[in-house]
Amino acid sequence: MDFAPIKKDTARLAVLPNLLEYEKCCESFSWDTVRLELDGLPDGRGLNMAHEAVDRHAAGPLRQRIAIRWLGKGGAVVDLSYGALREQSSRFANVLAALGVAGGDRVFCLAGRIPELYIAALGTLKNRSVFCPLFSAFGPEPICQRMVRGDAKVLVTTERQYAKKVAGVLDRLPLLSFVLLTDAESHQSDRIRSLPRLMAEASDEFTIPPTSPDDMAILHFTSGTTGMPKGAVHVHNAVLTHYLTGKYVLDLHPDDIFWCTADPGWVTGTSYGIIAPMTHGITSIIDEADFDAERWYHILEEQRVTVWYTAPTAIRMLMRAPDDQRRRFDLSRLRLVHSVGEPLNPEAVLWGEKVLGLPIHDNWWQTETGGIMIANYASQEIRPGSMGRPLPGIEAAIIRRGDGDTVELIGEPDVEGELALKPGWPSMFREYLHDEERYRKCFVGGWYITGDLARRDRDGYFWFVGRSDDIIKTAGHMVGPFEVESTLMEHPAVAEAGVIGKPEPVIGELVKAFVVLKDGFTPSEELRLELIGFGRSRLGSAVAPKEIDFIDNLPKTRSGKIMRRLLKARELGLPEGDTSTMEGGETS
Ligand code: AMP
Repeated sequence: MDFAPIKKDTARLAVLPNLLEYEKCCESFSWDTVRLELDGLPDGRGLNMAHEAVDRHAAGPLRQRIAIRWLGKGGAVVDLSYGALREQSSRFANVLAALGVAGGDRVFCLAGRIPELYIAALGTLKNRSVFCPLFSAFGPEPICQRMVRGDAKVLVTTERQYAKKVAGVLDRLPLLSFVLLTDAESHQSDRIRSLPRLMAEASDEFTIPPTSPDDMAILHFTSGTTGMPKGAVHVHNAVLTHYLTGKYVLDLHPDDIFWCTADPGWVTGTSYGIIAPMTHGITSIIDEADFDAERWYHILEEQRVTVWYTAPTAIRMLMRAPDDQRRRFDLSRLRLVHSVGEPLNPEAVLWGEKVLGLPIHDNWWQTETGGIMIANYASQEIRPGSMGRPLPGIEAAIIRRGDGDTVELIGEPDVEGELALKPGWPSMFREYLHDEERYRKCFVGGWYITGDLARRDRDGYFWFVGRSDDIIKTAGHMVGPFEVESTLMEHPAVAEAGVIGKPEPVIGELVKAFVVLKDGFTPSEELRLELIGFGRSRLGSAVAPKEIDFIDNLPKTRSGKIMRRLLKARELGLPEGDTSTMEGGETS
């Protein structure tokens, strides 16, 4: 079914959008001009994200403005002004420096959305160390894998997370010099320290050392289909994209109250939950609690949120709540709603218009791009179901791969192909840590290949079609099947496992595993539940399979690769497609 475009009359919008003339802006765009809107470190000492986000505001008239309003699960409210955030993050930078943690060293953080996480992130950037967030719903395996791969030197975490998930894997982390516990009153050992104690002893004055725009700033792990997670490296220069997308896509204005619901364990939660809004000197809401329709409407009303950035899973959950629940709240302050991370159904865009009184603006990007690349803009019409048009300064194309290192650009509209971007934007990832080969493979014929399939209509709007690989998106989180399969195979009963994303109406896809048992084990409900529990305890709730089926054999290619697509087709009762490369399949 086709949905009519949602037209915009800019004259009737409450606030005049920052980006008014899209085509004109694209034509005259230059990243050098964007750089001029930022500050740079004093005395030409370079460009540092934390200076752009916090210190420059703290040194001027925005010093008293609230940068973060933190809402605790139990009702506590903590306001951190730009001035306070500057001091706290400087203390944290001094803590790192005193421990001998240098520029480039990796500082991991495993915590829910607590104020210490934001202070640690900014302090790490000030010290020119590298901030590496871990999602708090990960289990010990994903945590350990990522810290090993990322050469973790420091881990900032809570006593509870440490005891539950890290203490048991410490001996696999010889490079980890310090664990800083955010809620411990005293040091446990030289290695396991109390962060509050160290912070109390540290000075709140810190001079950011010279920082090159190309210095590593943030390391985000993302899943691949083969092999373990990849560490996408981002540099301080990414702040140009954060700032620009805050201006043109999120359409931030000085008096906005902004709420990004994403967790900083994932890229949206750092790029837009921390950096982008702060580069605009505005107030961000951080809610510690998980989704709850009543709570969320209450926050939107009480905090007078004006710009809201959320995700399709959350929107679909709100769509399930009764409409009169929404009507009990005054959302008249809200002027823009954005969504990212998974396909946003056109129905959800229209539901926004009907129930929130505002259409939802979908946008597209990924861990590797560091910031929003394709978007629906406040001043431009929305085509429900489309991800929108490329950000000024970004060249996006639909391509078909040719022989070797060649690609063919698909010029005609509405033809499906691979979504590709012309490299060179400031927040482009600069490497997959310790994996040059995988990084190199992302670039073909002068284009960065995103791994998504899409089409473009005649007016330049991009429409998402699917992934070109087996990566699973569950509740907006990327899960690599290989990581789940490897963990299941550590169970004594499991010979092999194949993992797929099974479509699910609210969370998009759920993680489903097909398990082949070793000789001597027989399928039973008891064993199935045991395996589900095993997955949860090792991988954590964000990654573990929710469904497990027993199967006699996994379909494989002749070279021994699991054919997950076939597993999926069989699960969904769809045609199996080309099985000629399958073990024992047709050869002609
Ligand atoms: P991540 O790297 O975890 O942020 O995931 C990025 C992937 O999420 C993209 O490559 C897409 O497959 C998917 N994605 C992100 N935004 C959208 C969107 N607006 N519509 C459809 N898929 C999206």
